[in-house]
Amino acid sequence: MQNCEPTQTPDVDIAALHEKYLHERDKRLRSDGQAQYLEAEDDFAEFYEGDPHLPVVPRQPITDDIDVVILGGGFCGLITAHRLQQAGVTDFKIVELGGDFGGVWYWNRYPGIQIDSDAYCYLPLLEETGFMPKEKFSKGDECFEHAQRIGEHFGLYDHALFHTLVQSLQWDGEINRWQITSNRGDAIRARFVIMCQGPYNRPKLPGIPGIKDFKGHTFHTARWDYDYTGGDLHGGLDKIGDKRIAVIGTGSSGVQAIPHLARGAKHLTVFQRTPSYIFERANYPTDPEWVQTLEPGWRAARQRNFHNAAFAFYNPGEPDLICDGWTEVARNMAAKLNATENFEGWAALADPAKFMELKEIEDYRSMERLRQRVEQIVEDPETAETLKPYYRNMCKRPVFNDEYLPTFNRPNVTLVDVSETKGVERITEKGVVANGVEYEVDCIVFASGFEITTALERQFDITPFAGRDGVSLYDHWGKGFRTLHGVMAHGFPNHFATGFVQGGVTASTTLMFEQQADHISYIIGEALRRDATFVEPTPEAEEGWVQTIREFAVDNSTFTTECTPGYYNSEGEPNGRSFLGDPFWGGFYELSDRLQAWRDTGELDGLVLDK
Ligand code: NAP
Repeated sequence: MQNCEPTQTPDVDIAALHEKYLHERDKRLRSDGQAQYLEAEDDFAEFYEGDPHLPVVPRQPITDDIDVVILGGGFCGLITAHRLQQAGVTDFKIVELGGDFGGVWYWNRYPGIQIDSDAYCYLPLLEETGFMPKEKFSKGDECFEHAQRIGEHFGLYDHALFHTLVQSLQWDGEINRWQITSNRGDAIRARFVIMCQGPYNRPKLPGIPGIKDFKGHTFHTARWDYDYTGGDLHGGLDKIGDKRIAVIGTGSSGVQAIPHLARGAKHLTVFQRTPSYIFERANYPTDPEWVQTLEPGWRAARQRNFHNAAFAFYNPGEPDLICDGWTEVARNMAAKLNATENFEGWAALADPAKFMELKEIEDYRSMERLRQRVEQIVEDPETAETLKPYYRNMCKRPVFNDEYLPTFNRPNVTLVDVSETKGVERITEKGVVANGVEYEVDCIVFASGFEITTALERQFDITPFAGRDGVSLYDHWGKGFRTLHGVMAHGFPNHFATGFVQGGVTASTTLMFEQQADHISYIIGEALRRDATFVEPTPEAEEGWVQTIREFAVDNSTFTTECTPGYYNSEGEPNGRSFLGDPFWGGFYELSDRLQAWRDTGELDGLVLDK
């Protein structure tokens, strides 16, 4: 494994940069916030419901009565299904829009797709399935294959209902079942429902005037059209040599796909509103000798180390096992503290303000390093300046790439800065208008992201979504999330949520799903064992958890509102939802301990069980 040294970062004028950051934010803030995006429906329904990977095979509608329906067959659904099995629950179905397991890794097969996070931490159930990723940052196909591996290993294919989109969810108090309808005409009754749809399930489109007028070809990165481009997720786009292509969006997806489009296309025009910040990829193959040294539980230790770097902090002398851009700021900060005799500098961290001050310095220095990296790679100074990110680390998702920046040295690539107009100005029949210039193109690729922090109705796309007495979940959570432990809500018996809502936050989303799956499978297992028709939190228990969330709340609003807009900060909306959805800031492992202690009593405290 690589030797993990701190990076060399330059001195910076923080006050001047802070001004620049605010200026760059103000330039991009839009009064329409999240509403600037179009839903993938009506004319654009295919951007969500269409499957370019597998044909939909006709089948008869299903009218089963089953114990548990899991919505979503990505890593969350797979982990949860496995945990249900461990809790002795066997009568469950996994309902999935895709034609196979994998979730984001089923859908997103754009060229260049690769994990941007440590695969040894991120890919779930490694020890259980006996699998080790081939490299630190797995390619997309390895992730998809691992989802299939989990499905096969635990016999989950027998439980799958693929190519099925749940359209409505209603609690039927007469029979104590959830009534579930789908786009395949299904009418399923389930005692329990678990939402495992993940945050990145539904593509969204930029609401650019004229978007419907374009007469050329279009697709979203999450539904790549290889019939049009040729090639596959490793590249080789050999059908677009005579095509002028436009890409709108330069986030994680755009950055990965753009080098391949540039290699294949006659001409590529990249419309950039905000540049991503791009670390070196620094990928490496898995070292078999390192694998030999691993003791059982190695992964949990690695995940905790990653968590410390991203959300807590290292202990004095603790090494950085992850050693990439995610951990650069923490690593550099720790290195300076470790350099003092007897680690005496660490004592200062007891003061949170001091901790934040030290972190801020390393953050500014690291971002300056990345801006210098742009300058070193991109030959044209004006283009290099446009590609420089002026915001703080973690305002946006870090990106890791060695091919993206050199792409702008190619003669067939044009970068168009659309920051001054807060986005692309207009789309016409023939192309894209920016800064008053029309760029005629044959195809527009939308790398415009997902319904991650938009309204819940948009994210779930399930209507009605109604609990007891027809109360909508969207109304129940309309003025703020209300849950018990982030997984259940009063008025929604036998219903379980997963994800970034009042739960624990850690560096690997799959670990968060594991924590939630442990809790959910325990509750369902107990409810079934105790022959309960339904289980539901009391209003008092729900209120108690809301208070716990408040008690540990961290005010990071200054940081968030000073970021350039994006889904991480709800496009800068004044009361926007953070990407992390009002989490339990008391600590991920503290939450694990609390939930475990709650389960250990066996009392199901705060839940009502009805027989
Ligand atoms: P994204 O980060 O939401 O990026 C959307 C892009 O579209 C942004 O660059 C945005 O610019 C741009 N855009 C939107 N409206 C525009 C307009 N009107 N004019 C011009 N540009 C416009 O979406 P994403 O790249 O698909 O990534 C989403 C998330 O998925 C990531 O943050 C990550 O969590 C996950 N992901 C992970 C990986 C990985 O691990 N390898 C890969 C892909 C995605 P602004 O920034 O100015 O808003």
